[in-house]
Amino acid sequence: MLTIEWTNAGGWQKPPIKPFGNLSLHSACSAMHYAVQLFESMKAYRGADDKVRLFRPMLNMNRMAKSAERACLPVFDRAELVECIRRLVQVDLEWVPQSDSASLYIRPTFLGTERPLGVKKPSHALLYVILSPVGSFFSTGAKPVSLWADSKYIRAWRGGTGDCKMGRNYGASIYAQHEAVDYGCQQVLWLYGDDHQVTEVGTMNMFLFWNNEKGEEELATPPLDGIILPGITRQSILELNRKWGEFKVCERYLTMADLRWALKEGRVKEMFGSGTACVVSPVGRILYQGENLHIPCQEDFPQPASRLMKELTDIQYGRTQSDWSVLV
Ligand SMILES: *Cc1c(COP(=O)(O)O)cnc(C)c1O
Repeated sequence: MLTIEWTNAGGWQKPPIKPFGNLSLHSACSAMHYAVQLFESMKAYRGADDKVRLFRPMLNMNRMAKSAERACLPVFDRAELVECIRRLVQVDLEWVPQSDSASLYIRPTFLGTERPLGVKKPSHALLYVILSPVGSFFSTGAKPVSLWADSKYIRAWRGGTGDCKMGRNYGASIYAQHEAVDYGCQQVLWLYGDDHQVTEVGTMNMFLFWNNEKGEEELATPPLDGIILPGITRQSILELNRKWGEFKVCERYLTMADLRWALKEGRVKEMFGSGTACVVSPVGRILYQGENLHIPCQEDFPQPASRLMKELTDIQYGRTQSDWSVLV
């Protein structure tokens, strides 16, 4: 693991790589008491050419820097941290699986380690990075997921921290996740507002491929207005689809009423979540107000999710040359 300490007085310390182990933290530290904490989520992929690549790591660093600013944690050198992570992966290169469905998960974590119990900007901080080989994320593989949609719990709100990858957002979501399972669903479809806007799928961004109200074929996802986590997969999907130029690509609000109406009229083609863990994950069913809404899904992957899955993994595993991949 890589651990880097920071103090207000001494700035950033040397970034040693040492064997994975426990941390030793002051029992009053602000990460433990006030959730002054954030993380990132990225992977290293081994290609058939045996080269190991990262996928758009600077985007993770930019997002991490934004989360750090929101958490009042110190600024760090983003390019330098990518270099440190590359060195860490080089040390553990043998742990990057030789498989095009597995990868090495990389978890940068940033903690406020302020000691006194006062609620204030940390004068001590700890940034560390741990690694673990991972396989395919969902136990069901590429099978469509079922979602529980209820406005009872809210993942994020305007002015909150839902657009930052902070542990607090996820810790607070576990309760709702359990309720989803009690209702026979795998994940939560997070709604927002009195009009039940569709925001995110579990810990993934949400995409709807449909014929919109005007009859135009459209790939839609909610806009980054503060309650949506700015996913790197989301951004890559938008960029790829705009490059294809085959249908309208739109960042717009979508409500459960829009979705239900479109399903009744047979205008929904597919719905999927996106994220580093699974790339794209089709949605098969939504339980909403006691009604099961069945989302069209072909066997295997429908379009454009299947095409995105292929094009993105081709880049990640180096089957397609792209400046989105960075060699380790
Ligand atoms: C991490 C995350 C995503 C996906 O982000 P990626 O950068 O694509 O992995 C989407 N939504 C939430 C809530 C997340 O935490």
